[in-house]
Amino acid sequence: MATPRRFDPRRLKYDADWIPILSANQLENIATEVLEHYCPQVLKPNHPRKTPVLEILQGLTKRTGLKFAYGDLGFRNEQKILGKVSFARKTLFLDQCLESGPLTKRLQFTAAHEIGHWILHRHSFPRWKFTIDRDGSLEDDAPSLHKLLDSSPRGWLEFQANVFASALIMPRVNFEFAVAKAQVDIGILKRVGLVYLNGTPQGQLDKFRVIEELEKTYDTSKQAIEIRLETLNLIEVQPVAMPLRDAVNDWPDLKDISAF
Ligand SMILES: [Zn+2]
Repeated sequence: MATPRRFDPRRLKYDADWIPILSANQLENIATEVLEHYCPQVLKPNHPRKTPVLEILQGLTKRTGLKFAYGDLGFRNEQKILGKVSFARKTLFLDQCLESGPLTKRLQFTAAHEIGHWILHRHSFPRWKFTIDRDGSLEDDAPSLHKLLDSSPRGWLEFQANVFASALIMPRVNFEFAVAKAQVDIGILKRVGLVYLNGTPQGQLDKFRVIEELEKTYDTSKQAIEIRLETLNLIEVQPVAMPLRDAVNDWPDLKDISAF
């Protein structure tokens, strides 16, 4: 039996700028609902995998009248525009540089971010008084695609689209399992499920290798994975201070240095 629909933009609260008031947790839940509808297979707790964002996009074109196109989106303030939603033209654009070449890892997150704008923001867009981009659209370059802290109206829109995108392509339900699996696959067997930084180069190297494994699982950029690890509090940093004997053992060169 189909799960009843819970996200209803008419029942949301809006702020004075007509931006929906949504917590990170609510955004996670909306993304989960979208996945339940279009690709429930990515929500299996012990089976993390790539979210088929382009299939979701196709589903939205059928159900919501959205059009989708690749194109050369140009630049904004010397930054490449990677994605764009034109509410007036009911069209979601992705830059053609995401189709092939070195930026393909950004396709997942960019497409998910623009889907977030379409799902979360198209209902109240006609009431917005603040300035948006050309032809009633939101354009996204690399800085806006990773913005998490900015209390301007535009900053809130980006925050919401970014939290939604993270949850869509790396679902909370199996992300911690994916971290643990990545760690076990590369031979880390202690404290799995949590990236533990103890101030040593080895800790940083382990983190890098875990992110590389997750990059393969979710087919997305390292930056997107790092943000997901941080926002789900899966990185634990040990305070730098440690007993001198341990510090010396961790840094072999110091063992031979005499104090005076
Ligand atoms: Zn955006």
